[in-house]
Amino acid sequence: MTPLEKIIGEIIAAEGPMAIDRYMGLCLGHPVHGYYMTRDPFGEQGDFMTAPEISQIFGELIGIWLVAAWAALGKPDPCNLVELGPGRGTLMADILKAGRVMPGFVEAARLHLVEMSPVLRQLQKEKLGGKAAWHESIASLPEGPLLIVANEFFDAIPIRHFEKRHGKWLERCIGSEGMGFMPAALDDAQGADGDVIEFAPQRLEIARELGRRIARQKGCALIIDYGHLRTAPGDTLQAVRAHEYVSVTDRPGESDITSHVDFEALGKALAQGGARVLPPLSQRAFLLAMGLEQRAAILASKANAATKDILARAVARLTGETEMGNLFKVMVATAPDLPTPYPFGTP
Ligand code: SAH
Repeated sequence: MTPLEKIIGEIIAAEGPMAIDRYMGLCLGHPVHGYYMTRDPFGEQGDFMTAPEISQIFGELIGIWLVAAWAALGKPDPCNLVELGPGRGTLMADILKAGRVMPGFVEAARLHLVEMSPVLRQLQKEKLGGKAAWHESIASLPEGPLLIVANEFFDAIPIRHFEKRHGKWLERCIGSEGMGFMPAALDDAQGADGDVIEFAPQRLEIARELGRRIARQKGCALIIDYGHLRTAPGDTLQAVRAHEYVSVTDRPGESDITSHVDFEALGKALAQGGARVLPPLSQRAFLLAMGLEQRAAILASKANAATKDILARAVARLTGETEMGNLFKVMVATAPDLPTPYPFGTP
């Protein structure tokens, strides 16, 4: 039994079945035993691999995209460069390296990192130097223009599950005997018996607040994650440890629990806040339009055979139709009066 399993068992004994959002929040963010609070989970030695850890090109292309977004804003100086859930800081380091192509960008950038994990904050500090400001949540981000990037952040924000049984919606909970149900009133939700729907009120509230800030403070957000383009019934809750799927109730606090992002719902919430939301692209379409293959070819031309292989493998992982290319989506939200940023809105 993990220490967190004991704590969760005690809460359930005292308060009854626990909704999945609370369970997920504890598993990931419990101050002492939460998964992200206690470790560096990334890479081959860790539990899972993310795009910036696969290749520097991912962050370089996002850096180029952000430089163009900064120019579209009129090159404000200072400008807040915000990352949600920066992990090891690799993406931001590559963004800043690529950002040197545009004079003034790096000098204007004020780094603001939204990160709950003390372990990961420390890694970010080592990678990026002391010049960043850290935030527990988006609530304390400063005023002024915003360039926001979030890779694999929203999938880690807790969700709730409801299942329709005999015409009634029941909320899925963690109970003393495993997964159980308790009655819930969801009068306006359509669905057939047996359907499971996911609700992510915490995600949607973050998205609404980002939408409000982008509209009011001017700026844009680039959001990348695994997920689906349309709201649809389905259970996408998953737990991963050492690159394998495990049960979400197995060893709480020791696996990464996430769910796929509903980009339709996320887009609506950003728009409710006042932002203009463009139809998302697949990660494959986004990276290819940004010049992934050309950049890989330049790096390969100066590389030995082994590095050439690594580059080819990275391109395949990031864009492959059965790897990350189609599962991952890229969504952008901008202040309403900004031009449509390339490559969004192109047919
Ligand atoms: N963007 C990085 C890491 C993705 S993992 C990459 O692509 O490699 C998720 C990140 O979000 C971690 O840094 C985790 O600590 C952070 N995180 C998860 N939930 C959070 C929350 N509620 N508030 C702040 N940070 C959170």
